[in-house]
Amino acid sequence: MSKSVDIRVDYLVVGAGVSGLSFANAIRQEAEDAGKAKPSVLILEADTEPGGYCKTIKQEGFVWDYSGHFFHFRNPEIEAWLRKRMPGQDVRTVEKHTSIRYGGLDIDFPFQKNIHQLEKSEFIDCLHSLYFRDDAGDATSFKQMLYQRFGRGIAERFLIPYNEKLYACDLDSLDSDAMGRFFPHADVKDIIGNMKQADNASYNATFTYPQGGAIEFIRALLRDLPESVIEYSEKLVSVDLEERVATTSNRRIGYQHLVSSAPFDKLCGMVQVPHDASVFSANKVLVFNLGFDRKGAKDVHWVYFPARSLPFYRIGFYDNIMDTDRMSLYVEIGAKSGQEFDVEAELAGVLAGLRREGYVTDHELVSWHSVAMDPAYVHITKASMEEHARLMKHFDAHGLHPVGRYGGWTYCSIEDNIVETRALASRLAGT
Ligand SMILES: Cc1cc2nc3c(=O)[nH]c(=O)nc-3n(C[C@H](O)[C@H](O)[C@H](O)COP(=O)(O)OP(=O)(O)OC[C@H]3O[C@@H](n4cnc5c(N)ncnc54)[C@H](O)[C@@H]3O)c2cc1C
Repeated sequence: MSKSVDIRVDYLVVGAGVSGLSFANAIRQEAEDAGKAKPSVLILEADTEPGGYCKTIKQEGFVWDYSGHFFHFRNPEIEAWLRKRMPGQDVRTVEKHTSIRYGGLDIDFPFQKNIHQLEKSEFIDCLHSLYFRDDAGDATSFKQMLYQRFGRGIAERFLIPYNEKLYACDLDSLDSDAMGRFFPHADVKDIIGNMKQADNASYNATFTYPQGGAIEFIRALLRDLPESVIEYSEKLVSVDLEERVATTSNRRIGYQHLVSSAPFDKLCGMVQVPHDASVFSANKVLVFNLGFDRKGAKDVHWVYFPARSLPFYRIGFYDNIMDTDRMSLYVEIGAKSGQEFDVEAELAGVLAGLRREGYVTDHELVSWHSVAMDPAYVHITKASMEEHARLMKHFDAHGLHPVGRYGGWTYCSIEDNIVETRALASRLAGT
């Protein structure tokens, strides 16, 4: 053992969220499959418990996540792997019911495919501006893409105000593909076709949800890992890339590979690599979990709100997933990263908004909780993608592998986190 470090490991992993835990499972599995001795793996988690953004709060009979984590699996093998590690859990696959509250109407999601449900004059305006939209040339921003593909009527009624509330930034600053596969694309043929025969299928037409909340996926990922692999309340503080030594809040650790799910901008600071920090911005999401004394709206899971007069951009109904008898909502408010909130004042605004829209009538709020997710949705711009790609090459050459939603500075799901970290484990095991 070198004098300058307290321990050495093959793989030092930062974060016991989905990405870190998935990588630890996968790298151990690689060794087992190859009939080799298991590599030494240590996961550092700054928090006192595992889960990252996939934590669950259980309070007065309500089960809430850090914002509604509805899980959409495209890869049946991954879903089966997780389900197998959740014995006794009621894991439901639910057909998603999503609507948009617009001008007092409930329009099916996505808005662009359901303009025929609008009032006649609004429908005509959307259809007219869709037909006569200017779609010449390649869109240079997310906002321009919205105008080019859908025309002014659809863009200005829903897509722009909704996404401005969510991202809390100028949509002209975002890359035209900032939402990747999570953006429900539709061309004129789809839009007109949908008027006679509804086909609102999207990436998340059905979702999977365990009775015990998102944390059950984390428990599944913890199942095959020895407890000693994770060190809680230990934070990565700095990294010496050349020496491959990490300094934590407690000690110095030598590693062969460092796999980090910490936010990329913070990681760059810890590595002290020259970089353009100004390109890495994100929004923050303030989440209210609200438990009421009795049932509210039925047959709905998600409602989107483009109205700028309402503080929230989306609400979700936990009680309609698990068929429980008290309304259990999560409410999401988008803001700039770092913005401070007066939580009590925001709660009052949320409840007033829910009353105005008729979701809360004479219901009594019996339990609530709030959590701020910062970063939540990163701002994917040309500059952020270029700087991220440049630094990734440099880091990779030094055994540093940023992973996950925030290591990748991207928009992705937990399934994507699992796919990505399995692929990394396979690559590193082969080196
Ligand atoms: C509002 C919102 C809604 C979402 N909804 C869904 C959904 O419905 N379905 C879905 O599939 N996905 C959803 N996601 C995405 C999902 O949350 C992420 O893909 C996933 O949780 C990312 O996991 P991760 O392990 O990469 O990162 P994280 O969950 O952020 O975990 C990172 C971990 O690293 C730790 N850490 C950070 N820095 C350090 C350090 N210096 N030292 C030690 N530890 C450190 C943190 O404490 C944390 O535990 C949503 C995300 C948001 C923001």
